Amino acid sequence: MAELRKFVARHAAQEPFFVGVDLGGTNVKAGVVDDLGRPMSWLTLPTNSSAGPEDAVRRMGLAVKQATIDAGLQAAHIARVGLGSPGTMDIPTGMLLEPPNLVGWENFPIRARLEVHCGHEVTLANDANAAAYGEYWVGSGQKLTSMVLFTLGTGVGGGIIIGDLSVDGHHSTGSECGHIIIDISPQARLCPCGQPGHLEAYCSATAVLKRTEEALAQGRPTSLRRRLADGSALTTVLLAEEAEAGDPLADEIIVETAHYFGVGVTSLMHVIDPEGVVIGGAMTFGGNDTPLGRKFLAEVRAEVRRRAFPVLAAQTSIEYARLGGDAGFIGAAGLARLEHRRRHRM
Ligand SMILES: [Zn+2]
Repeated sequence: MAELRKFVARHAAQEPFFVGVDLGGTNVKAGVVDDLGRPMSWLTLPTNSSAGPEDAVRRMGLAVKQATIDAGLQAAHIARVGLGSPGTMDIPTGMLLEPPNLVGWENFPIRARLEVHCGHEVTLANDANAAAYGEYWVGSGQKLTSMVLFTLGTGVGGGIIIGDLSVDGHHSTGSECGHIIIDISPQARLCPCGQPGHLEAYCSATAVLKRTEEALAQGRPTSLRRRLADGSALTTVLLAEEAEAGDPLADEIIVETAHYFGVGVTSLMHVIDPEGVVIGGAMTFGGNDTPLGRKFLAEVRAEVRRRAFPVLAAQTSIEYARLGGDAGFIGAAGLARLEHRRRHRM
């Protein structure tokens, strides 16, 4: 997957301009985006979350200013800033509540503090919803009128966009697609959120590795054992390598993941009936660029065909995301642009 498109130059860019900030547990990415969703600059910095939220928003404010300079702009050229953050949060008041990936950041007024440090008004969004809006605006969902994004990574994230509306929900927990229930049996796996049977407990990279470890503990024959004995760490990349090399167990675990995931995709399709479903995140097995990535997608589609209303299965597109790690900051800028347009009745 192409991680980055070329920057659009200042003279070719279209006003107004926005800055998107994608706050992650490890890194922050900030960049300027023009009115057509084209990046003009971006930079990354460590989140260094243990130093606390005030230190991080101070540095994020500096990053907004640096990205502005890097784009050949001045502060007055920036119409608004968008911030995509991990939850939990309360979007109307701009508060972080209890973000599990940012320990010590509880009940922090992140929007107001970033406004102070960057000198612009800020639109706060859930990080996965921001990424979904990025894909919808200028990525894999560009031609769609409604879209569900799933991100498969350490966890399973989700975003739902319907006609320029990000479904944030009444309590800012809308679009939590990773926590739909796919297993109500007593043996259901426990999700990191504390509830059993959620999609994330089966399809996140963490869950895939747990299932792999269980298979290893059962003594299943696999070439993974030799790789681990040689000192390799058990990762989904290693799992993918062995599946591509023909290891039946690695292949079985990945195909099984596609089937679990297809169950979740089907549920969302029946609720939303989106024009398309987009799959992003770090665990997409190379996407369209590798045989394994194409096989994973084919298996997801096959599971959807087995379970969805025929008209949905036949007509809903299911594709990989296109923006890679840029979706978050581009989408955050896009949500800032939407708020700017609403306020100015554009
Ligand atoms: Zn959950």
